[in-house]
Amino acid sequence: MGVVAAGLSVANPGSAAPHNSGTQSAAGSQSQGAWLKEGLIDAGGCHEPYIFVVRCGGVGPNAHEIFERYQSEEAIRRLQNQGVEVFHTHLYKGFGLEAEMPEMEDTKRAAAIAHRYGMKVDTYIQWNTMMYETFFAEEPRAKGWIQCDALGQPILLTYGYQQSFRYRPCFSNPEYLDYLKRIIHYAVEEVETDLIHFDNFDLNPEPDSCHCNGCTTGFRKRLQTKYSPEQRKDRFGFENVDNVNPPLWNKWNPPEKMQIIFDPAFQEWVDYRCEVMSSTLQQMAGYIRSLNPEVAIEINPGGITGANRAWTNAVDHSRLLKFTNAFWSEEPDEADYLPDGRLISKIRTYKMARTYRNIVLAYTSHGEASMGESLAFNQTIGFAGVDPLPPGMLKYISFYRKNRDCYRGTEDVASVAVLRSYPSLTYHNFRVQLSAILVEQALIQARVPFHLIFDEHLEHLSLSLCKVLILPNTECLSHAQLTAIRPFVEAGGGLIATEQAGLYDEWHRLRVKPGLEGLVENQTMAPAYEETVTAATIATGSPARREIGRGRVVYFPGIDFDGPLPAPEPYFGIDKRFWKRPRNSEELINEVHWVARGDMPLEVTGPDFLVANLVEQRHERRRLVHLVNYETKRTPSIESIDVKCEVPEGEAAKGVTLYSPDSDAAPSLRFRMEGSMAVFTIPDLRTYCMGAVSW
Ligand SMILES: [Zn+2]
Repeated sequence: MGVVAAGLSVANPGSAAPHNSGTQSAAGSQSQGAWLKEGLIDAGGCHEPYIFVVRCGGVGPNAHEIFERYQSEEAIRRLQNQGVEVFHTHLYKGFGLEAEMPEMEDTKRAAAIAHRYGMKVDTYIQWNTMMYETFFAEEPRAKGWIQCDALGQPILLTYGYQQSFRYRPCFSNPEYLDYLKRIIHYAVEEVETDLIHFDNFDLNPEPDSCHCNGCTTGFRKRLQTKYSPEQRKDRFGFENVDNVNPPLWNKWNPPEKMQIIFDPAFQEWVDYRCEVMSSTLQQMAGYIRSLNPEVAIEINPGGITGANRAWTNAVDHSRLLKFTNAFWSEEPDEADYLPDGRLISKIRTYKMARTYRNIVLAYTSHGEASMGESLAFNQTIGFAGVDPLPPGMLKYISFYRKNRDCYRGTEDVASVAVLRSYPSLTYHNFRVQLSAILVEQALIQARVPFHLIFDEHLEHLSLSLCKVLILPNTECLSHAQLTAIRPFVEAGGGLIATEQAGLYDEWHRLRVKPGLEGLVENQTMAPAYEETVTAATIATGSPARREIGRGRVVYFPGIDFDGPLPAPEPYFGIDKRFWKRPRNSEELINEVHWVARGDMPLEVTGPDFLVANLVEQRHERRRLVHLVNYETKRTPSIESIDVKCEVPEGEAAKGVTLYSPDSDAAPSLRFRMEGSMAVFTIPDLRTYCMGAVSW
């Protein structure tokens, strides 16, 4: 059986990012933040300095005492005793170096204590705030460094009307970037930080995009360098882009109501905003590396939560995560299974992180299912919380440290890959995101292991990347991507395409002939252009099977949301209200098995709130099956879970060992071989466990 182990890393061994095109990737260099390969147990401390909480208002007169305690030797020692390995604390919030220097010096003192205790230090640096009241006093030139809207008003961070003193700096402004480097220099050289956390790594949604002179001219310059005159004519109908402006909005055309982005200038503006963020990060990563390549880089751009992050917040993860070792996702919800069948998880975010060899930091410390989910999919603890840590987290830290060998250097094993296509999601999030979320949800709740892949991976599509490719309503596919899909299928790959997959090109132009013609038939016609998008309906109909060459293809006319179709809303996010299995989930999973010709590395029986992940340590000659119960509140334990776990061809399993934070013992389980599958039963799962199959 040709199950792909860690297909993504196979394509580019040793690199931090698959198919990193040789650009100056920080994390891509072998040593940048290499210590994080051992995993991460990070806790604070407080990421806010005293000056900030006072300026926000609402703190008591004893605030100074409280904030001193967070950086006290006592707190650091307690965390170290509890197994925390990285001390997280504040360094710079945006008031200006002069205003913040006393507290920055105190962080330097606290960092020295943490280092003395053998811990590493994670320092908070605000990426995106300029507290003008102090900053302008210190640096008068900074009045020209801020982001401003089309009317010239400063663009603010958005914290419920409370923080209008926080201007956003403009990343097209080289003078601000020089200033940011001075802060980084202090962190690396004075504090001797081991990890830099850049917070608020995003931009505001439209109409709050920067219209400063630097951005307007930068936008035009990008159009000139990205495209030849002929391509610009193809793109806009004309060559000269000297007068093209960032988009303007008005009462009758509010940005939050736009459902499909057809306008090429709008599409390019979204790209420009994403590019400014990623190229600035690249620049800072290069600077950090030049100072000390051991310093790890972490940003807070959020994870995959159903929002159109490129359009609303200038976040294109596939550009950013090449320069990072870790990232934050502040998804607020605990891992949970709701009575209406929704399963709430951070699995998508974790999978994206694994594709780019990043670690996720997330809020997990208040529920054991969330901690188990992190061990299962993140393969480490990540962010453990703030002192004092809750008892459940202490249990998980202790379990992780005791069994760390089982998490080190693992690779995800899956034969299925789901494409998250930037142009498809960005230009039509409401429908494409819904399909992607539903397909992923079906796989998650059927315990089918899968990779998330991105556009760049599709151009190198082969059976060593995945056995089955799923295109969830992937409307926009480039010529190069289409060219890669056909031979993949003919060579024996499985393809699941749904709805409008391949009907548009990467500029969201309707193709003359469907892009997947010859592989998929009878696709519903799609509109070339709509000024008023008609109410969406989801096509129904049976899936259609085809065999092409040695491969198999199934086309689904619709992936049915199980309930009334979500009405388009401002900014059309497919949030957790829609995180449930589609109505035709069972059919979808059957067809995934059919196109895979049964080539699945893992099968696990159980209810749909039981979730599984499979990873491998090739050198240790073992695979690890991770199981998480998402319904611990109502179903405190699941009994007799049957597992079939594939071992490499020609090998036979030698043993199966069960590990769980709920037991000190690590019992051996009885097993038998069925072909290349090791078959065994897990007698009882409470929240999280791991079965190690060695050969
Ligand atoms: Zn600007």
